[in-house]
Amino acid sequence: MLTAITLHEQIDTQRDDPLRILIVGAGVAGITLAALLRKQGLHPVLIERMAGMEHPGYMLALMPMLDQALEDIGVHDEYLARSAPLARYAFRSHRGRMLRSDDLGALLAIHGDYQGIERGALIEVLTTNGCPVTFDTTVIGFNPGERPEVMFSTGEGASFDLVVAADGIRSRTRDLLDVGDASIVDTGWAGWVTWSDVLGDDPALGEELWGDGFFLGAYPVKDRLGIFVGGPAEELEVGPAAFAARVRDAAPELGDRLQAALDAVATDPDPYLWPLADVRAERWVVPGAVLLGDAASGFLPTAGIGAGMAMESAWMLGRMLAHADRGNLAALLAEWESVQKPRVESAQSNSRMLARLMFRRGKLIARLRETAMRMLSVKAVLGPIIRLIADQPDPDATWRRSSDRAAPAA
Ligand SMILES: Cc1cc2nc3c(=O)[nH]c(=O)nc-3n(C[C@H](O)[C@H](O)[C@H](O)COP(=O)(O)OP(=O)(O)OC[C@H]3O[C@@H](n4cnc5c(N)ncnc54)[C@H](O)[C@@H]3O)c2cc1C
Repeated sequence: MLTAITLHEQIDTQRDDPLRILIVGAGVAGITLAALLRKQGLHPVLIERMAGMEHPGYMLALMPMLDQALEDIGVHDEYLARSAPLARYAFRSHRGRMLRSDDLGALLAIHGDYQGIERGALIEVLTTNGCPVTFDTTVIGFNPGERPEVMFSTGEGASFDLVVAADGIRSRTRDLLDVGDASIVDTGWAGWVTWSDVLGDDPALGEELWGDGFFLGAYPVKDRLGIFVGGPAEELEVGPAAFAARVRDAAPELGDRLQAALDAVATDPDPYLWPLADVRAERWVVPGAVLLGDAASGFLPTAGIGAGMAMESAWMLGRMLAHADRGNLAALLAEWESVQKPRVESAQSNSRMLARLMFRRGKLIARLRETAMRMLSVKAVLGPIIRLIADQPDPDATWRRSSDRAAPAA
């Protein structure tokens, strides 16, 4: 559970830590890192801009690369209990007809679990052993250096050995750091996220439909489905109910499960709107600070892997920081970046490639996409991501490499 405490209390508790770490943003990456560091005896200060975290958020399909992080935090069983297996993935035609269904769960099973979970439930799982946080607080000033000084929105100031900017895709903390230019892919699309209780005959089935100017997806979480309906941003101005009606007309062969999904979108008084743009920071590490998760590389939804990569990066950083002191911190962070950044960017490139295929208008394009999806195996489409999962990084070996590099030659 996240426990709200004051910033002053958090800074005071951290007083005797060998490394004083500030984590900005209590999202999946920031909390994964905080939980790991706490397990290792540190007391990172964790701040969050929002006033509380009661909202379930949206659905996350999580790939096996985060299993080891959950094991290390000691919450893997809770995770399985609060999530649902994503055993199969189906692709439908732009009219709604089922084109193919693949056993994605079985394909990934040799590497670990493929599960669907609500973001709020994941945060509860990650904080099973308790996690203090100061809500309603952001960073408004940063003086770089060996022990950077931070100014908070509360009017307080403090020095830390390391500031971790984990404040998401539209990170404000990133703007305070000298990390170079960010590259952004903006698809011009957006979509609403909501929930449906109609699980259908196969509750472990995730399904997607890429139509001519619209997208519909249904993803299992525990006891319900997360629903996503999207389209070109200007066409969503008609509102969720009218847009859902448009999708219904364009795709008459949807079946009861996805018809119920559209009903859920149409009747939700306040569905979450998600603009489909990503971001890639030029550098992740500057003196005294790092970018983590979406703040470093924020993803388009097309490969369903942003949270997985964010948690993997947090796990690598947390495990490597177990070996850190003020003397070796800079070398260790440089090594972390050299391993993790190419991994994350290769997954991001895969999601950008899929976006080029999917966010295209026109009936002819929709038909060509369907022909391609019929012919290509899921293994081929997600090949680079499956290779990343199969080839997990080793935090201890990476730390040893950084310490070898830092050691003076004999
Ligand atoms: C609708 C939707 C569906 C998705 N589906 C999937 C999926 O199926 N699989 C998958 O792997 N990924 C998915 N993703 C991507 C995934 O959610 C992100 O990659 C992941 O949440 C990144 O984690 P993060 O901790 O870096 O950022 P976030 O989870 O966004 O957390 C950032 C936190 O920082 C806080 N914050 C923001 N600004 C400040 C500030 N200035 N100061 C302090 N705190 C601040 C925010 O309130 C938030 O709590 C999805 C994303 C969305 C939006």
